[in-house]
Amino acid sequence: MMVVVVDNVNEPVIKFETSRIAGFDFGLKTFLTISDGTQIESPQFLKQALNKIKQASRQHSKKVKGSNNREKARKNLVRKYEDVSNHRTDWFWKLAHDLTDKFDILCFETLSLKGMQRLWGRKISDLAFGEFLQILEWVAEKKGKAIVFIDRWYPSSKTCSSCGHVLENLDFQEREWRCPSCQSVNGRDENAARNICAVGASTALVRRC
Ligand SMILES: [Zn+2]
Repeated sequence: MMVVVVDNVNEPVIKFETSRIAGFDFGLKTFLTISDGTQIESPQFLKQALNKIKQASRQHSKKVKGSNNREKARKNLVRKYEDVSNHRTDWFWKLAHDLTDKFDILCFETLSLKGMQRLWGRKISDLAFGEFLQILEWVAEKKGKAIVFIDRWYPSSKTCSSCGHVLENLDFQEREWRCPSCQSVNGRDENAARNICAVGASTALVRRC
């Protein structure tokens, strides 16, 4: 991270020289939305690989239990799983490097993966947010970048990133909403990412001042 220590005052003040701070929102449709509006989709090859898993799984369940064919189909299914998992891990490493090249402070919501799994089913584990965050934290530490986690009770989706108005309710399906207070139209994920960035920025500065 690029910091400047100003020495001509009583207390050294650490100032961020770059404004390369960003908030990130994980999603089911879009893997990550960045507060600058960038959307990072899961790569096509992963989607295709997941289809192959489904196919292999169907074939496995069709074979007679205890038969040689079933054993063959089982091995094939395991290979497909490993293939997806390796590809995904490679992609995570590459993404972690890209993001830490681009940003100095990366802000995320603290995820409750168990809670999300209960709510949304097994798709969450397919996307493996937890694995990605572990890789990202490792890469960030090596490169001297900061990962900031904000309180997971902060209503990042329901808060208007333009004026701070907080909605009482926001339906899970709602992709976009108009703020009743300032009339701005908020894309769900980008709005959340902007709020996560703002909260993360204040946390990071408080910690270092
Ligand atoms: Zn507003």
